[in-house]
Amino acid sequence: MIKRNKRNQNKQPAAKGLSDAAIAELNGRPTELATAAPDPDSETAWMAEGNCRLHPPATFFPSDGVGVDKARKICRDCPVMSRCLDYALEERIDHGVWGGCSERERRRILKRRRDESLVATAETA
Ligand code: SF4
Repeated sequence: MIKRNKRNQNKQPAAKGLSDAAIAELNGRPTELATAAPDPDSETAWMAEGNCRLHPPATFFPSDGVGVDKARKICRDCPVMSRCLDYALEERIDHGVWGGCSERERRRILKRRRDESLVATAETA
């Protein structure tokens, strides 16, 4: 089973020039995608099917909007895009483009879900 390094999950990437090793240290995804043989029993086995496995890891940790758009284009026809987004939302991954969404977009999705949940709770009370 692939384990992410939660200890470093909240580190802020140093924008441009972040090395592959530093990015891998953030959450492990790029190195795993590039080197790990897929373990079909792993809860992250879907990562081996992601389009990002064919691109440099830094592509998914952009420092500006142009970089985010570039990553999104790669995600757009990814066969595991929805699983990737769900995973990033469930794991509260703060950095990088996952499931075609930037950090900001994921925060908005989570906020919207929280708001909807509060409304639903209020309506049933
Ligand atoms: S949606 Fe994007 S980040 Fe996620 S696996 Fe696919 S290409 Fe990679």
